[in-house]
Amino acid sequence: MTTIKYKRILLKISGEVLMGAQHYGIDLATVGRMADEIKAVREAGAQVALVIGGGNIFRGLAGAAKGMDRVSADHMGIMATVMNALAMQGVLQSKGIEARMMSAIAMPTVCETYSARQGVYHLEQGRVVICAAGTGLPFFTTDTGAALRAAELRCEALFKGTSVDGIYSADPKKDTKAKRYDRISFDDILKNDLHIMDPAAITLARDNDIPVVVFSIREVGNVAKVLSGHGLFTVVEKE
Ligand code: UDP
Repeated sequence: MTTIKYKRILLKISGEVLMGAQHYGIDLATVGRMADEIKAVREAGAQVALVIGGGNIFRGLAGAAKGMDRVSADHMGIMATVMNALAMQGVLQSKGIEARMMSAIAMPTVCETYSARQGVYHLEQGRVVICAAGTGLPFFTTDTGAALRAAELRCEALFKGTSVDGIYSADPKKDTKAKRYDRISFDDILKNDLHIMDPAAITLARDNDIPVVVFSIREVGNVAKVLSGHGLFTVVEKE
């Protein structure tokens, strides 16, 4: 078994990742690839809690910009995360990986209602815990939900899968001089306004001393690789 840096992680995947090459919605082949990433992490010996966004289906801010009531629009975004979680739970189970979806908004005929105690129990039983519905509250994001669940479920790190291999001083696609960090502090992220997660999520992770590991989820096999300390990634930690 390879050596792993963290024994329990919270993996955050944005909804957009699940679109694959599509422009909208859920590409089940991509969900399958994400499930394989999670399987590899489980096989490496780590427990996994998962938060998936909803941006591939609906974003509250986009609805509000078109005149919708923000609270209703955010509730729609929250429901989008539930759809993604259902897809992921189904695919994980079809691959023989036990997964329990828990929703921040009670929907008892669909899945368990989130509770930290029950979530920790499932993790200890070796199940993947899929935390659906973000924080359950409008005006928040699934990044904040991920930081919150990471703290509640006593995860040792928050793994944020993105389309780039870490945090840069500027957008590497626009600025060839952009510098890539191997390590950066929470305070520098906030001070330099680096948009890797929203400030509420960064503050929550900082105050609970949960390192945030930023890496490319597009590279096959990368989650387990980064978990073992290899490959490219940026760790956000306290000074
Ligand atoms: N959302 C919310 N509260 C939460 C989490 C999500 O209101 O705690 C809504 C919000 O409208 C957001 C949408 O759900 O735009 C999808 O979540 P997010 O934008 O975080 O998804 P991602 O960008 O990660 O796919």
